[in-house]
Amino acid sequence: MKSLFDLSGKVALITGASRGIGLAVAEQMARHGAVVVLSSNDEQECRSAQESLRNQGYEAYAIPCDVSSKPQLETLVAESLSHYGRIDILVCNAGIGPHSGPIATATDEHWEQTMTVNLRSALWLTNRVIPQMAERNEGSVILMSSISSVRGNRSIGLYGLSKAGLAQLARNLAVEWGPRNIHVNAISPGLIQTEFAKPMLENPSIMERRLGLTPLRRAGTPDEIAGIAVMLASAAGAFVTGQNLIVDGGTTISDGN
Ligand code: NAP
Repeated sequence: MKSLFDLSGKVALITGASRGIGLAVAEQMARHGAVVVLSSNDEQECRSAQESLRNQGYEAYAIPCDVSSKPQLETLVAESLSHYGRIDILVCNAGIGPHSGPIATATDEHWEQTMTVNLRSALWLTNRVIPQMAERNEGSVILMSSISSVRGNRSIGLYGLSKAGLAQLARNLAVEWGPRNIHVNAISPGLIQTEFAKPMLENPSIMERRLGLTPLRRAGTPDEIAGIAVMLASAAGAFVTGQNLIVDGGTTISDGN
């Protein structure tokens, strides 16, 4: 009997898959049997992620793409479909946080970059990918949000706004496409050990405050997010849709004691 978490026969497209959370999601999905299309902006990094997965014996195919470019995203989807014939799992994971500080100090350019890479790209991708899932009456979409989507933020307010938009997009698409058996969920990681989080991880006073607020008293690992993504994409998560799953070691439920 197949495991509830089995993904064999599935094709997964993952953005931001060259490192960090996206690479871990790709590796874990491949380990559970999926064929994975890896995408990221930097061509060399993207291809070396492909090599790393192939060296572990997995079926992986790299398609570099800047998610802030609609034409490049269209090519990404078209090339994935022409190579594998279907996309069963879509993980919109690529994300950036180019601005920090009070939200009033964000420039129009910060807004444009943050909203396009983090939110608009997910709308473009889901618009392209979900209809072919619906033809088979099956599919799972995962949008990588953040706990900044559920809290007010003094320093990463613009980023949080884009991530709150992703959580809402998951709810909207879950309602629109649920009758066609398409599941759409967001995952909201807390602090995870990646390059993206380095400025926080390397700042002792921020870490002291953050870990004091986190019952598990540590940052998470990329695999601890990847495991949730595998669950949502597999039969184990088949009755979950429209949710924003918070995976943060308890940061957001804590009273700080
Ligand atoms: P990361 O290590 O910086 O990786 C980000 C990935 O996104 C890289 O593969 C990068 O590839 C890709 N990317 C960035 N801009 C892109 C663009 N314009 N087009 C295509 N790909 C692009 O970050 P991470 O920590 O793994 O974060 C992954 C996701 O989790 C992000 O959405 C982030 O907001 C979210 N998140 C992270 C944390 C955390 O603590 N780490 C917490 C909450 C949420 P290239 O360099 O090739 O562009």
